Amino acid sequence: MYPQYSYYNKIQKCKEQPISFPPQHQERQPGLEYLMDPLPISENCEYRGSGKLEGKVAIITGGDSGIGRAAAIAYAKEGADVAIVYLYEHRDARETQERIEEIGQRCLTIAGDLREEAFSYHVVEQTIRIFGKIDVLVNNHGVQFPQCSIMDITAEQLDDTFRTNIYGFFYMTKAVLPHLPPGSAIINTASVTAYEGNKYLLDYSATKGAIVSFTRSLSLSLQSCGIRVNAVAPGPIWTPLQPSSWPADYIMTFGTETPMKRAGQPFELAPTYVYLASQDSYYVSGQVLHVNGGTITGS
Ligand code: NAD
Ligand code: MG
Repeated sequence: MYPQYSYYNKIQKCKEQPISFPPQHQERQPGLEYLMDPLPISENCEYRGSGKLEGKVAIITGGDSGIGRAAAIAYAKEGADVAIVYLYEHRDARETQERIEEIGQRCLTIAGDLREEAFSYHVVEQTIRIFGKIDVLVNNHGVQFPQCSIMDITAEQLDDTFRTNIYGFFYMTKAVLPHLPPGSAIINTASVTAYEGNKYLLDYSATKGAIVSFTRSLSLSLQSCGIRVNAVAPGPIWTPLQPSSWPADYIMTFGTETPMKRAGQPFELAPTYVYLASQDSYYVSGQVLHVNGGTITGS
């Protein structure tokens, strides 16, 4: 059922990796990870940290679940304390916090709405009060509301998608910037949809294109401060975003359109977020790394 490379054999020791999913739908977005079947794989249990983020402090928006949770756990394994920001998924956030504390790092959970600029300053104040500094910002929160036609995208939906997916990235960056020392890193989560397009995700893919351009421009703007800015463009990944936005039957074949014919799991993104936060990527800025199951994006 699975590719027989030794890498996958290793991963299967953690937990079997499904290539199709039972039909399921959650009514509300953001979705809840603990309700998903099967649960996403957040962690490669064979991943051993080597102190790449020793003594660092990271803020990860959307860090309660999905890709953000996987990055948060890997950051903790690399020696970072992590503040995770989320909208209302308290149980998912608590589970992430428990795992980070089990690893031996500190985890601050902060719930609130990043569509509001004032909340981003609250996030930064809390993080500075508890951890005393910030070295890494991962702008990762997001929503998507698939529609069959542009005619179905209301002004309210358009506003919500842009306020969440791109305004929130500006707000967090502005709030964090005065605290970021030279050598720190900002990482933005974009999407393969920025490159390939998606006929059901016109507003969402437009925000992801904006995130790519924001990443490039911010990188140029912050070069002189010694702050690097990069992005990750995931392909289809098994996270709460999916069952909370697509119809139940769409979920069954989710991700099978990729060259690898399967969805990715959140843990498969984590090393890329570690790389972009650490000194390993010291000569890399303004770039987008594509973790998408082999889709050729042309950039
Ligand atoms: P997820 O649901 O686990 O994460 C999204 C998070 O965004 C949620 O945990 C939620 O707390 C947060 N959020 C949403 N609205 C918010 C608001 N107003 N204020 C504060 N937080 C808010 O799903 P995920 O797939 O891990 O998403 C993480 C990022 O990855 C998103 O930017 C998404 O667009 C991007 N992405 C995901 C996929 C995929 O297939 N899963 C593909 C490409 C890009
Ligand atoms: Mg969540």
